Amino acid sequence: MTATSQSLKFLFVSTPVGPLGTGLGGGVELTLHNISQEMIRRGHKLQIVAPSGSTWDCLPVVQIPGNLQIIAQSQQRAALVTMPENSVLANMWDYARQVQSEYHLIVNFGYDWLPFYLTPFFQRPIAHLVSMGSLNNALDQIIKQVAKQFPGTIGFHSLAQAATFDLEEQFFCLSNGIDTSLYEFCAQPKQQLAWVGRISPEKGLEDAVSVAKMTQIPLKIMGKLQDELYWQKICQDYANAPFEYLGFLSTSQMQQVLRECRALLMTHRWVEAFGNVAIEALACGVPVISYRRGGPAEIVQDGKTGFLVEPDSLPGLVNAVSHLDQINRQTCRASAETEFSLEALGDRFEEWFIQILDF
Ligand code: UDP
Repeated sequence: MTATSQSLKFLFVSTPVGPLGTGLGGGVELTLHNISQEMIRRGHKLQIVAPSGSTWDCLPVVQIPGNLQIIAQSQQRAALVTMPENSVLANMWDYARQVQSEYHLIVNFGYDWLPFYLTPFFQRPIAHLVSMGSLNNALDQIIKQVAKQFPGTIGFHSLAQAATFDLEEQFFCLSNGIDTSLYEFCAQPKQQLAWVGRISPEKGLEDAVSVAKMTQIPLKIMGKLQDELYWQKICQDYANAPFEYLGFLSTSQMQQVLRECRALLMTHRWVEAFGNVAIEALACGVPVISYRRGGPAEIVQDGKTGFLVEPDSLPGLVNAVSHLDQINRQTCRASAETEFSLEALGDRFEEWFIQILDF
């Protein structure tokens, strides 16, 4: 099979931590959705391989049975590589092995050791889109090995994320993008703030709730409840704060609430690889107040599309909230339209894929 840039055939292998549509995969779900949609619009063909129970019906998904993988964020840095019996991760890659000759390129969206390890055993090239910063020694080591053996096949979402892996070899840095037409601009927000994301300790929700308590501006929380105990603790510790959990919403429902907020708060404790929610907020014209840490610090233009605050500083967040009137919401929307559109996303990823195939 020879590759032409006109029409390529991609096999996209999803994350094994959850079926598509459940939110368990975090930002990877939206990223995979948007890259797929844009590649099809550009005339390429693709097949997505994902765990059984995936609910996307507008894109071609082959459902693979098996037990889900434990999320890397919940494990220690020195944790051993583990897989459950009848692992969906192993099953998805066995499927990829069987059908590989029908595709030009396989793209790995999972943050797991196995696909990196398997790379030299495949006949087709594999592009690896790494969705989180460094968390595990075994994974770091195998990523380094693949980067050396297959130059240019590793993609990150931000320079800050890439820096956590300390690669000497060439890598690609690919910001995400969204269909901005799905996010409506709102010029006149209500007196409320938003926090959007997986409810899990690395996301630092308690700091946003503290801001709600200190400013008495109600906080709307949306996202997958991934860590029930963590959430219960926040509810107990901040019983009197004005916050409300609205659940894990569809993009359409989520943006209806988000766009009416004065700002999105991003209070992550880890090096956020990118932060899809930042570009979703900007697309609604909502300024982003974020800790100066990880991907959001490369998305937000301080003082123009939001504020970058010293990491873990609650007074810094409160101060930024008090200056929100200085931000022009149209400028936020324009930033999403120019830098983070589906078209811009497609250009970045198409270039990466073609470069790998040219090797
Ligand atoms: N999200 C959603 N519904 C919600 C809240 C969040 O679909 O109610 C999605 C959001 O669109 C984003 C993802 O959850 O794509 C969170 O991704 P992000 O990159 O911000 O963080 P991650 O979860 O990957 O760490």
